[in-house]
Amino acid sequence: MNIIIFGPPGAGKGTQSKFIANKFNLYQLSTGDLLREEIKNKTKLGSEISSIINSGELVSDKIVSNLIEKFISNNTFKNKIIFDGYPRTLNQARNLDDLLKKYVQKIDVVLKLSVSLETVIKRILERKTLEQRADDNKEIAIKRFKTYEKSSETVIDYYKQSNLLKVVNGEAGISEINAEISEIIHAIKG
Ligand code: AMP
Repeated sequence: MNIIIFGPPGAGKGTQSKFIANKFNLYQLSTGDLLREEIKNKTKLGSEISSIINSGELVSDKIVSNLIEKFISNNTFKNKIIFDGYPRTLNQARNLDDLLKKYVQKIDVVLKLSVSLETVIKRILERKTLEQRADDNKEIAIKRFKTYEKSSETVIDYYKQSNLLKVVNGEAGISEINAEISEIIHAIKG
């Protein structure tokens, strides 16, 4: 089973992905984590993308596409991926479909975590004290939320059309969201 977890920054995508990965024996593919790893390791790519990430914009589709193909093409992860933070644009959604076709896989469900800007800011400021992410401050959080709003509608419509979209109330507590997501996945697994 391959799952997409979708939602604005601070929606709880990472937290929920880790939970789902553990519970259902899947692998979390967080493009944000992979990109931050490049910055931390001071790679060439890392130096190209750090200012983009820290301004709350999206890095290019090509860069993230290369990162996810490495994952999708690896047999260890075949049909066991939770896409956390990818796709974020319609172009990425289409590209993901092409890649999945190439490696004979598909998406089983898209979980959309719905949260307000107010909640996003509150959570990001809480997370800042724990993770010290350079892009976790109020101003950049608002910018990231706006970046999300700009492209999310078309991505959501895309998955609505293919009947894969399930909306989850991201305002609820972590364990309530865990429970709702588990129910959805159990229903799909049958
Ligand atoms: P995240 O950890 O998912 O909040 O992502 C942190 C930042 O990494 C985003 O604000 C973007 O700058 C970049 N990023 C992560 N995933 C993507 C993606 N799929 N497309 C473009 N940029 C991304």
